[in-house]
Amino acid sequence: MKIKRLPPDVAMRIAAGEVVERPVSVVKELMENSLDAGARRISVWAVQGGRVSLVVEDDGRGIDKEDLTLAVESHATSKISSLEDLEVIGTLGYRGEALSSIAAVSRLDIRSRTESSPEGGWIKAEGGQVSSQGAQNCKVGTRVQVDDLFFNLPARRKFLKTPVAEMRRISRLIQDYSVAYPEVAFALYSDDKLTYSTSGSSDRKSVLERLWGGEPEIRFSTVGRGCYTVTLWWQEAPRTSRMSLMAFVNGRRIDEPTIKAAIASSETNSSGNWAAWIETPPEEVDVNVHPAKTEVLFRHGGDLFASVRDCAMSIRGDKKPSIPYSPEPPKAPRVPVHDRGSLFTRLEPLKLAPSPRVSQVTKELPVHRELPRPEGPKDEDVAFLGQLTSGYLLFDSRGDLVIMDPHAAHERINFERIRGSMIDGARSQRLAVELPLPPSLQGDCEEHLDRLQSLGFDFSRSQGVMALSHIPDIPGGADISPLVLLRSSLVGMDGDRVVREVIWLKWATMACKASVKLTGKISPGEAMALWRGLDENTVAACPHGRPATIRMSPGDMASRFERS
Ligand code: ADP
Ligand code: MG
Repeated sequence: MKIKRLPPDVAMRIAAGEVVERPVSVVKELMENSLDAGARRISVWAVQGGRVSLVVEDDGRGIDKEDLTLAVESHATSKISSLEDLEVIGTLGYRGEALSSIAAVSRLDIRSRTESSPEGGWIKAEGGQVSSQGAQNCKVGTRVQVDDLFFNLPARRKFLKTPVAEMRRISRLIQDYSVAYPEVAFALYSDDKLTYSTSGSSDRKSVLERLWGGEPEIRFSTVGRGCYTVTLWWQEAPRTSRMSLMAFVNGRRIDEPTIKAAIASSETNSSGNWAAWIETPPEEVDVNVHPAKTEVLFRHGGDLFASVRDCAMSIRGDKKPSIPYSPEPPKAPRVPVHDRGSLFTRLEPLKLAPSPRVSQVTKELPVHRELPRPEGPKDEDVAFLGQLTSGYLLFDSRGDLVIMDPHAAHERINFERIRGSMIDGARSQRLAVELPLPPSLQGDCEEHLDRLQSLGFDFSRSQGVMALSHIPDIPGGADISPLVLLRSSLVGMDGDRVVREVIWLKWATMACKASVKLTGKISPGEAMALWRGLDENTVAACPHGRPATIRMSPGDMASRFERS
C-alpha cells in the first residue's frame, strides 16, 4: 500500500479522539478550564449521560470576545508560552488542545464575558470549523455547551456506554473534584434533575462526609517529608476488602498505583475509602506524560512512597516507623563466597513464615495495637477446609467463608517481606559462577551502575566484558534467575533515580511465580502459613490492589440463598 498523508480534517478528528474519549473527558477538560479561570461556582448539566448535550457554566474570569476564535484553535493557550513554563506547570490545563479537540468532534457553543468588558461574546463551531459568532449580553464567566458528541466519528460514538454508565463516570469525576476544591460550589444536573451539589464552604472533611457518609468517623493525618506534604483521609470499611482511593497532586486528579501500593504496604488491612492529597513544588512533578494527564512522574518517588505509608500508619493512631526509610540505602555489604555446589549460593532457604528481620520490623511498628480488629484471626478462629480443584483455598473463619487466592496471598506476603528486609539497606549475595552479561544488558548496567549496586547487584569486568557477580538477597527469591532479576530491576530505573517500591513489587511477583502456583497442591500446613502470613488479616489486597481473599459472612450467604 502507498503511504498517503491524511487529509487535515481526518488527522484532526483522530487526534481529538485521543483527548476526548467519552463525555466524561469533555466534562473534565471544561471543568479544569473553569478551575484554571478561578471559578467559585461550577454547574454541569448532562443530557442522556452527556451523549446528547453537556453544559459547563462557571463564574470564572472569562474569555475576551476577541480571543474566542483563538481558544478553539489547537495549541492555543493562555497558560504557558515557552518550554521553560512546562517545568513549573501550576494550572490544570496547558496544552491548548481541549477546546479545539472538543470542537473537532461535536457542535460547540461558547459564551463568555470578562470583567473588563461591558458585553460578552459567543461563538459556535461544528466539526472543528467556526460557523458563526457575535456579541451578547451575559454575566461574567463562561458557559460551554457541547452537543452531539462524536456526531462525525460514528465508530467512537458506538463505543459509548449507556447514558446511566456515562452519567456514573461524570458523577464520580465531579465528586472527586468537589473534594479537591471544597472552596468551589459544584452542582450536577442529570437530565435537568439536580443530582449532586456542594456548598463551596471550603471544608474538605464535610465534602467527604457528604460523599461517604459520616459513619464510621472519617480520620485524617498529614505527614511532610522532603518536598512532599501528604494528607490522607480514611474511612474504615469493616467486613469488606474493597479499597477505594482518590488521589490528587497539586489539585490534579491522578491515577497513581504507587500511592495505592504505599497505603497497602502500611498495614495489612487497607480496605475502606481513602482520599490522598499531595502537595509539592510544581517542579518536583512532571505532568507532561499522558494526554489525559492522569499520570504523573515524581522526582523523588521514594520520599513520596514513604510519606504516604507513614501517613497511612499515623491515621490509625500509630506512631511513625522507628526505622527511617532511606530512599538511597548505603551500599550493600558484601557477603563471602559459600559455594555449596549449586550454581549460586543463597543465605536463606525459601520459607513461608515471615523472616526474623520482617517480624523485627513489624514489631517495632505498633501497627495493630490501638485498632479494634474484628477480622483478627487467631489459629483457633480459623479452620482450613480444603483446596478446590481450581486451586483456591477455603477457610472457615468464625462462620464466615473465606476464599483465598494462594498466589495473590503469597505475592502480598512476599512484598512485605522484601520491603521489610530491604528497607534498611539491601543485602547482597555472591554468585558462585559469574554470569557474563548479554550485550543488550551491558549498556543499561553501565548507565545505572550505582543504582544497581545500591540494590545489591555488583559486577566484575574482564577484557571489556561485564559479568554479574552479586545479586540482592531477596526473601523468597531463591528460584528467580539472576539475569531475570537484573532485567526486572532496570524497570524501576527512572533517569537518575531508582523507584524502589516498583522494583520490590516486581521482585515479589517474580518470587511468587517462581514458587507457589495457583494450580499446585497446597498442604494444610502451607495454607495456614499463608493465612498467618497475611499478618492477622484476611482481607488484604496484594500490592497491585488484587484481593488475596474474598469473605462471605453468613448474612451474605443468607441473602444469596434468598433467606430473609
Ligand atoms: P488549555 O486549558 O490547555 O490552555 P484549552 O483548549 O482547554 O487549553 O483552552 C484554551 C484557552 O481558552 C485557555 O488557555 C483559556 O485561556 C481559555 N479558556 C477556556 N475555558 C475557559 C474558561 N472556562 N474560562 C476562562 N478561560 C477559558
Ligand atoms: Mg484546558
